[in-house]
Amino acid sequence: MDQKHPPLGRQPSGQPSSQPGTPAGAAAALPEHCDFTVFGGTGDLAFRKLLPALFHRDLEGQLPDDFRIIGVSRSDLDTEGYQQLVREALPGHVDPAGHDPATYDAALQRLVGRLHHLVLDAEEPDDWHQLHGLLKDRGRTEAVGGPDEAVRVFYLAVAPALFGPICARLDEIGVVDPTARVVMEKPIGRDLASARAVNDAVGAVFEESQTFRIDHYLGKESVQNLLVTRFANTFLEPLWNSRWVDHVQITVAESLGVGERGGYYDGSGALRDMVQNHLLQLLCLTAMEPPTYVGRETVRDEKLKVLQALKPMGPQDVDRDTVRGQYRQGLVDGQAVAAYSDDLGRAGSSTETFVALKAEVQNWRWAGVPFYLRTGKRMDRRVSEIVVVFKEPPHAMFPGSEGATTANRLHILVQPDEGMRLHLTAKEPGPGGIRLRPVSLDLSYATTFTQRSPDAYERLLMDVVRGNPTHFMRRDEVEAAWSWVEPILERWDELGERPLRYPAGTTGPTAAAMLLERDGRAWQETDQ
Ligand code: NAP
Repeated sequence: MDQKHPPLGRQPSGQPSSQPGTPAGAAAALPEHCDFTVFGGTGDLAFRKLLPALFHRDLEGQLPDDFRIIGVSRSDLDTEGYQQLVREALPGHVDPAGHDPATYDAALQRLVGRLHHLVLDAEEPDDWHQLHGLLKDRGRTEAVGGPDEAVRVFYLAVAPALFGPICARLDEIGVVDPTARVVMEKPIGRDLASARAVNDAVGAVFEESQTFRIDHYLGKESVQNLLVTRFANTFLEPLWNSRWVDHVQITVAESLGVGERGGYYDGSGALRDMVQNHLLQLLCLTAMEPPTYVGRETVRDEKLKVLQALKPMGPQDVDRDTVRGQYRQGLVDGQAVAAYSDDLGRAGSSTETFVALKAEVQNWRWAGVPFYLRTGKRMDRRVSEIVVVFKEPPHAMFPGSEGATTANRLHILVQPDEGMRLHLTAKEPGPGGIRLRPVSLDLSYATTFTQRSPDAYERLLMDVVRGNPTHFMRRDEVEAAWSWVEPILERWDELGERPLRYPAGTTGPTAAAMLLERDGRAWQETDQ
């Protein structure tokens, strides 16, 4: 740690202080000077997500003039070579069509001009002086927090095993000051102990308030709009509880297989890769209580309470309430696709590519309301959505309508389309009695709001630069999520059974359908 800038009241647990923080609604001003260092600057994440996000912000004129992007990797590239690489690759990730060519070219030129590359092996102690030199050599004043002080962002787009060592080196070379921020990508650990180890190593250098754990789902418009829909309107709140909600379904389905990522994925599986983070975060936002205001700690405090209220899973609960599957060959969009074992290049793996489970939030609002979660690869479509299924009317008062399903449903569409759909029952027009017909009220982001919907990374990266952690996972959230997930992993290990096979291009194993059928319910297959 830079001795001139000692840590301010770090708490050993890594928990943030209980200060309420500032409201998140009013965006803090962007700093005038920023050094955005990406460890893993030549990687897939940097090229597919981070650089395109920064490009878009630059295109919209949001990046300050003094905003340097420092790519770090072991690749033998000087700054010019890196600039050339990005210049050639970026149009493959941000389609120039739809942009004025001159504006696009100018923005690309500007972004490229911001780039530096440092050859540095994060596992070697020797190469770090260059980074120190570059960060210190920017003609800034020595006064911390002075107008010329650059905010330093350290984005860890590398394997999690490098998170701790990189932070330790940053500390050693004295570039971690109170304005510095570290950004961590998933996965943060593969169980509670390893997550704690990563958090401890990073927390030994960075305050919790300087630590940004990305879950890109939290940057999606529709996910952030969930908070607005719930808390900036009054009509839902009286209904958003066990009295009126029958159950909630959360689905994150992908039609892709593991592709090139088989090696990584096989050590992880759907529960670790998707449920522990994305699906539980969606559950939290759906179930949380209204915070006093939407602030940097208040939302996270409420999400934590939901995680802590999840009913722990004992072995019998796991056996009864979880289903795991693995895709075999099948047809996706009419195309034959291979089985997981073929994608992986070996047979016999017991890694799950599909999970369905039933969770319960044990609090006053949600007692007795099941939350059904499911996620999988090679499913029949790519869709992410939350469906809140309300109770049936208590009495069928329209003659002839007995048995007709009239439960209202609110679909919160996360991807590919973002929006909301409320399913209602209406009278079918015409004489001769009343016939009921399901209808829907649709809010499509694409048609309602004409401006481009920024990618989640654009919003989240700017939040990092501004120092707003509201939509990032706090240490206690990550660890509470692992605490809940871990007994499921342990029970599966203990059983040693192989996951159920499901044909690619379907909705998963039939046992997933039975999980709901035995409760008299069914998955709401989206009509996106
Ligand atoms: P990747 O394509 O394999 O890139 C890894 C990057 O790290 C490369 O730039 C690599 O460059 C650099 N690197 C590796 N070892 C290094 C070392 N010892 N010192 C310095 N640089 C090193 O991986 P990725 O897909 O970008 O993913 C990066 C991280 O983000 C992973 O933890 C992944 O789980 C996570 N993540 C990725 C995605 C995604 O969409 N790609 C999504 C969510 C999370 P050199 O080999 O040249 O050093």
